Amino acid sequence: MERVIMIKYGELSTKKGNINYFINTLYKNIQNKLNGLDVNIYKDISRMYIEFSDHNLKMILERINNIFGIHEYVVAYKINTDIETINKTILQVLPDEKFNTFKVETKRSDKAFPIQSLDFSKHIGGLILKNFNNKKVDVHNPDLLVNIEIRKDYTYIYFNKYKGLGGYPNGTLGKGMLMLSGGIDSPVAGYLALKRGIILEAVYFEAIPHTSIEARNKVIALSKKLVKYTNKIQLHIIPFTEIQESIYKNIDPTYCITIMRRMMYRIMEKLAKIKKAQVIINGESIGQVASQTLTSMNVINNVTNFPVIRPVACLDKLEIIDIAKKINTYDISILPYEDCCTIFVPKHPIINPNLNDAIKFEEAFDYNTLIDKAIKERIVIDITDEEENKFKDLL
Ligand code: ATP
Ligand code: MG
Repeated sequence: MERVIMIKYGELSTKKGNINYFINTLYKNIQNKLNGLDVNIYKDISRMYIEFSDHNLKMILERINNIFGIHEYVVAYKINTDIETINKTILQVLPDEKFNTFKVETKRSDKAFPIQSLDFSKHIGGLILKNFNNKKVDVHNPDLLVNIEIRKDYTYIYFNKYKGLGGYPNGTLGKGMLMLSGGIDSPVAGYLALKRGIILEAVYFEAIPHTSIEARNKVIALSKKLVKYTNKIQLHIIPFTEIQESIYKNIDPTYCITIMRRMMYRIMEKLAKIKKAQVIINGESIGQVASQTLTSMNVINNVTNFPVIRPVACLDKLEIIDIAKKINTYDISILPYEDCCTIFVPKHPIINPNLNDAIKFEEAFDYNTLIDKAIKERIVIDITDEEENKFKDLL
């Protein structure tokens, strides 16, 4: 019997004026993620449907679970809308289900269907009671919910509903530049931005030889985890050594981190403008370290008017770790390679820096030239989903 995956849009259906844009983007994203898996995808205003070959189902569902904009999905039997066919199907598929109590729920969006929803549920309930021994109706807490959706062309019967990732289809809300270190917080910040429909380019500040190539590889590995939720991530590796060395040569140690982060923000703004991104994203979390007190964040943020969002700003570390584990970045993040922020860390970084002092310190060296050079000499790597590529290669 033919089965289809039926996807419900959830929150998207509140996007009245833009609904088609959201649905079309979701459609393209699903098409892209399922490329090579022998599927047929079609849609209407309230549902998207995926026809599939049975042997691919597991892999398709794994991919579906990584696509933003899907709020709920079911695997349904797809049959013609006529009473006899529905009766026959119920009798045929129910023996595969384990249950003692059940409830039937009918949704009739095809008003031409001659029986009202409630009456049809009663009819199917009666049919089940008559044909199966020892089954009981329980309308409050049934073991099995028998869902029947009667739509115009077809009727869909299903039992289990699965929660999707939620969020907005990736790409519907523009582009952001993610400051991606090898730590725990920034990949989670990236994931949460992806969830709001933002596509990402990632920026990693590298201070070779003070940081190792393993540290860079860690950031690449993290990008590969994030790309599972989007199409492609361009990773910009910024050579930051000269700027960092100039800072440590010229500036009072207590202000080094503050100034270093001001330099990062300046580079982020320039790069965001070059790459036509609308927002900078990072993993700052209020109070976590000296550079993340509100005073520090003020003095650091002062170098730019560009919008900066901090998706994990108000989360506890443990909440961030929970998400990092869920998206499989945690094990990579805790690998012990030094980041450019952790080398040269002064014993007592300033907790409440003063803006005028920061500006004064910065006059000690010509950072604008170094910033432009770092941007020009950046390395760019295109990160794509390897598992997806494997299937595309087979085409
Ligand atoms: P994370 O766990 O993400 O490394 P953290 O708690 O170590 O964060 P910081 O080192 O103060 O915090 O960095 C705050 C944010 O600044 C990071 O979450 C990241 O977005 C950005 N950042 C820090 N270092 C780098 C880097 N080397 N390259 C790119 N972004 C960085
Ligand atoms: Mg860090």
